[in-house]
Amino acid sequence: MAEYKTKEQKRKFYKSHAWQEVRQRVLIRDNYECQECKRQGKVYTDYHDPNKHKRLDVDHIKEIYTHPHLALNEDNCETLCVRCHNDKHDRFWLRKKQAKWDDEKW
Ligand SMILES: [Zn+2]
Ligand SMILES: [Zn+2]
Repeated sequence: MAEYKTKEQKRKFYKSHAWQEVRQRVLIRDNYECQECKRQGKVYTDYHDPNKHKRLDVDHIKEIYTHPHLALNEDNCETLCVRCHNDKHDRFWLRKKQAKWDDEKW
């Protein structure tokens, strides 16, 4: 069973062909829409960013750090905009730009 605990393991995973395929399928499944914005009744649109496709992440609902066996399970993945994704992980890019985010859970 693969593990994704170190930054190197995670980096490898996110670059893997297998993940890229799952990621693509999830984006298509979710119509390239942020699922969290949708739940809150707003649709993530050009209002935030005209290049919205570039501003979407595919998030693991259960972190691969703790649930490595779900890393490639599409049911464990959903599309989030960068803003919601950062909220979910309690991240503040602007303030923590210098911080070494790789060491945190993603
Ligand atoms: Zn969102
Ligand atoms: Zn995430």
